[in-house]
Amino acid sequence: MDRNSLFLEPWKEIAAIHWNDWRWQFRHRLRGAARIDGFSGYNPLKRKALQGVSRAYPVSITPYYFSLIDRRDRNDPVLRQCFPDLREINFSLGGVDDPLEESSHMPVKGLIRRYIDRCLILTTTVCAVYCRHCNRKRLRKKSNKSMTVRPLMRPMLEYIGREKAIREVILSGGDPLTLSDQRLDAILKSLRAVRHVEVLRIGSRAPVVMPMRVTPELCETLRKYRPLWFNTQFNHPREITPEAARACEMLLEAGIPVSNQSVLLRGINDSYEVMRELLQGLQRISVRPYYLFHCDPVLGTDHFRVDIGKGLEIMEKLRHSVSGLCLPGYVVDMPGGKVKQPVHSPRMDDVEPCR
Ligand SMILES: *Cc1c(COP(=O)(O)O)cnc(C)c1O
Ligand code: SF4
Repeated sequence: MDRNSLFLEPWKEIAAIHWNDWRWQFRHRLRGAARIDGFSGYNPLKRKALQGVSRAYPVSITPYYFSLIDRRDRNDPVLRQCFPDLREINFSLGGVDDPLEESSHMPVKGLIRRYIDRCLILTTTVCAVYCRHCNRKRLRKKSNKSMTVRPLMRPMLEYIGREKAIREVILSGGDPLTLSDQRLDAILKSLRAVRHVEVLRIGSRAPVVMPMRVTPELCETLRKYRPLWFNTQFNHPREITPEAARACEMLLEAGIPVSNQSVLLRGINDSYEVMRELLQGLQRISVRPYYLFHCDPVLGTDHFRVDIGKGLEIMEKLRHSVSGLCLPGYVVDMPGGKVKQPVHSPRMDDVEPCR
């Protein structure tokens, strides 16, 4: 049977007014195994196993992101980023829950500080789409479900107020743009009230997985708190749709620079051609490629990991063929270490960089 016919077309008749409303998209996320059953087309045994995966690591896919999937392709790059995979619970493949030891870098719960001048706060544990390669997968485990972030906000703000060396705060999560405009406004306002906090940053995948979240009202809210930098995560050129481009443009028009942090993912973007198309596509929509992350050894993501040698080879080829404005820094988060390390080819190691 053609795989296409195995998928339901759940939103065929949806009016544009709903489709373009982020709250509709958010409410109609495909969640849990039951919904996947309806369109997976797998045999009952595999379906049952996938239910096991989605119990370990919940599934959530917005109708918009789902619509980008080419359903004839089992290895579709969008599908693979959001659809559960049996290898996620094959724990013999290695990895640990928290390879960056973020939990041990939390001076107060919910606030991660690995650098003296900047820190990261978890504003929510919810995302519109749960990326299967997420390096904070652990936050979604049942044992962590009890972690509600809201009561942590006051202690986090008090800590930031005390720590005069912190000049930049990154709103992360989870995805901060799953919060309401009012809630975001309140958080940003309290941070802006701290005199030594000069720069704010939001890390959000909303432009990629739910671009209708970027509304004129949101832009008006964010505009008030500049300098505010926005980091998103496009991993494949197919994600650069007119809707996503529009979302980035609206942020840019509000005076908010948009950068991109991709993750190097096996079978998704680990080729020179795909990566070049992605980076040049981002440059075309005025989004600056910032980092290319080497996939961290997070439990349940081994099937996404690319050999560092291959990553270097792709970067080396790109360096010779694309504009400098398209080139991200290829970095690896050092387990237990404090900083993101640039990855160099071995022969570059003996060259002292000029500073
Ligand atoms: C990545 C990260 C930052 C930001 O690092 P930049 O190199 O400035 O992008 C800050 N805090 C934590 C905990 C991080 O993981
Ligand atoms: S949007 Fe970010 S935090 Fe959320 S699942 Fe994806 S990678 Fe993880």
